[in-house]
Amino acid sequence: MSEEQRLPGGRTHMCGELRAEHAGQNVVLMGWVATTRDHGGVVFVDLRDRDGVVQVVAHPQDAPAAHAEASRLRSEWVIRVTGQVRRRPPGTVNDALPTGEIEVAAAGVEVVSESDTPPFPVEDGVEVDEALRLRYRYLDLRRPEMTRTIRARHRAMRSIRDYFDAHGFVDVETPVLTKSTPEGARDFLVPSRLQRGKVYALPQSPQQFKQLLMVAGLDRYYQIARCFRDEDLRADRHWEFTQLDAEISFATEDDVYATFEGMFAKLWSDVLGVDVATPFRRLSYDESMRRYGSDKPDTRYAMELADLTEAFRGSGFNAFARAIEAGGIVKALAAPGAADWSRKQLDELVQETKSRGAAGLVWLCVRDDGVDSPVAKFLSPQEVQAARDGTGAGPGDLVLAVADGEKRANVALDGLRRHIADRLGLIPQGRWDFLWITEFPIFEWDEEEGKWDAQHHPFTAPASADLDPATARARAYDVVLNGVELGSGSIRIHDPELQRKVFDTLGISAVEAEEKFGHMLEAFRFGVPPHGGFALGLDRIVMFLTGHENIRDVIAFPKTSSGQELLTGAPSRPSDEQLRQLGIRLAPEPPKRAE
Ligand code: ASP
Repeated sequence: MSEEQRLPGGRTHMCGELRAEHAGQNVVLMGWVATTRDHGGVVFVDLRDRDGVVQVVAHPQDAPAAHAEASRLRSEWVIRVTGQVRRRPPGTVNDALPTGEIEVAAAGVEVVSESDTPPFPVEDGVEVDEALRLRYRYLDLRRPEMTRTIRARHRAMRSIRDYFDAHGFVDVETPVLTKSTPEGARDFLVPSRLQRGKVYALPQSPQQFKQLLMVAGLDRYYQIARCFRDEDLRADRHWEFTQLDAEISFATEDDVYATFEGMFAKLWSDVLGVDVATPFRRLSYDESMRRYGSDKPDTRYAMELADLTEAFRGSGFNAFARAIEAGGIVKALAAPGAADWSRKQLDELVQETKSRGAAGLVWLCVRDDGVDSPVAKFLSPQEVQAARDGTGAGPGDLVLAVADGEKRANVALDGLRRHIADRLGLIPQGRWDFLWITEFPIFEWDEEEGKWDAQHHPFTAPASADLDPATARARAYDVVLNGVELGSGSIRIHDPELQRKVFDTLGISAVEAEEKFGHMLEAFRFGVPPHGGFALGLDRIVMFLTGHENIRDVIAFPKTSSGQELLTGAPSRPSDEQLRQLGIRLAPEPPKRAE
């Protein structure tokens, strides 16, 4: 064994690497006791390390001392085993185990460290409460499935680093204690001890620093960066997440797309051994919204949306006519072969639609001789025909239509489309549908605050001279995989004048712009290359690569959905001394409201 491969602690092999070709070799192994069994006086121990499990056999006659020690082992004790690898007797080969052709005949067994009884079995496939898993995360990570996931994550990071290094990108770390950078979420703040009354913000992204690195002439930057956003958690969103962040000088959209397509192709090949087709398809934001009602469409199946607004303008069906008159739209899709769904199933769809904020759902079951629908009597033959033609529905299909404001109708139908595809089993497995969504709106209306916001962030370049917030488009793009947004980016504004105009539209006054982003405006006075970039949510990518649906399963030490770290007990109350040093006094807790 070469010096680099020498195993720490005097081991000769990892448990999981032993195969038939090792038969006859003397080995030293260390690991955790997964299980022990006593079969007629012979003790069998399944010994586990991060590479897998191997069976160790302690025979009372052959090695009495080893056998005596093996007899008292309990789950999760750490032991050292010396012995010889031998082929298992015929009939006892275990095909389910990569090491299943061999076993290790123990010559010596030594207990290195004992274990309390673990609070849950350290094995795959057992139902364990997530809170318990998080509380004892080190035991959870010891389970083969979790060890595999963490190691797949490592391989992904390694593949990404190799790719960017090979393409001339420089890995630069940016500050974690810094100034707020707007990405649309709430900041985490850290009070300063030396600058009383002032705070740092944890970065929502390294956005401003990476742009400043372009001004610095670094040309191509990347970083696997920790980012922090204080927002509601979901199955695929965590406060403290990892972003693959990059920025490229003199880049056009095509340069950014080519860079990331190459990275994804290498990553999928390195981690999954799968070929990803490049270039990825491109769909403008407008087209995506029109055809799928979403800017992150799942394009693995059809069921595209049809706009029926014109067909129903002035309709005798009041609900539709009124929605259109009020400036809304009518959109529909056809669920193939679903005309026979029960009333209960259809009612569920109505509920599903309403839960997404739409006023209601109209369904038409298409038959050979017409349609069945609670509203059939209000619809003209032309309207029924338009609904069938628009959605492509034939006999046996179910047409689902929503009339509402454009945004609400799209949100509802996007949800229905996903729900129905799942229910009808229309989603092909093993398919990777990567897609660029391009030409996003540059601004979006913030209902709550009654003002225009940056759809991406305020450094995004407009696509043309049009800065009318209602119509302006941005040089901004997202990458979407199987209906999930993996990342966003844009070509940036590099002209301070244009930047000021965009701030202006966003209602950021010159004084506020100076206060918040003066450093950017100033840097842009010193020779700035045009530049653009992109950032990907690495945790979500690892979810795809490992088949997990919960983001916490791909993060070694995650927080609960209410932000607690059950292992360490964070967050915790600061001590009086810490507060005194920071000059902070905690406000009394608001009185609890009576139940
Ligand atoms: N900073 C952006 C984000 O976090 C990505 C980018 O524009 O490069 O979404």
